[in-house]
Amino acid sequence: MILTPALLPKLIAAISETLANHADEVTELDQTIGDGDHLINLQRGIKALTEKEHELIALDWPNAWQKIGMILMSAVGGASGSLYATLFMALSKAAKDQPLSVQNFADNFNLAVEAVKHRGKAEAGEKTLLDVYIPVAQYLNTAAASSITLPEILNTVVAIAITGMEATRDMIATKGRASFLEQRSIGHIDAGAKTAELMISAIVGVIIAELPASE
Ligand code: ADP
Ligand code: MG
Repeated sequence: MILTPALLPKLIAAISETLANHADEVTELDQTIGDGDHLINLQRGIKALTEKEHELIALDWPNAWQKIGMILMSAVGGASGSLYATLFMALSKAAKDQPLSVQNFADNFNLAVEAVKHRGKAEAGEKTLLDVYIPVAQYLNTAAASSITLPEILNTVVAIAITGMEATRDMIATKGRASFLEQRSIGHIDAGAKTAELMISAIVGVIIAELPASE
């Protein structure tokens, strides 16, 4: 029964908790080089997902991801809303009719991140949430093709997400509102990268707790 959409209420609750615990920090980051609404944008999405939980748990992963994308599209707003909606809808499209496996997830997650790059017209190094998602996707590709165990993969994913988030501090923003500040955007972590890292870490925490001890 592990790693089915029955896990979604726990995943959504863990994300909600970590965002609440880091609310001031995230808002301050987005106030410094953005407009300060990033946290509440995401929290609006999490609230909408919580309200639809009972419908989501009845679906398989591709259909659940599709519905999550649609819910986020209408609830989140801001640049991050359409980017997260794209991430989940592309993940759904890529995963259609496939069983969940590390290899399949890695392939599909890479396609989803490519779709976000396309949507945001952004690449790595532009001081956005993609500076977390791109290295995580690349690592998943490498890890899936190796004999690394799932718990090891998951722990490394967290480390890579943290490194990616930290790396945005020294970047010049060339996409989104922070790009208006040009050089002055240097020295501050991107809010979207911070929340990406927080959400990935929360998801990993829930999955690790679900895995049988032997894995
Ligand atoms: P808005 O910028 O419209 O107020 P949010 O505050 O919710 O939206 O989200 C801002 C975050 O979205 C940024 O911190 C950045 O990580 C991400 N972002 C903004 N524009 C882009 C883009 N073109 N490509 C990728 N990520 C982006
Ligand atoms: Mg904002």
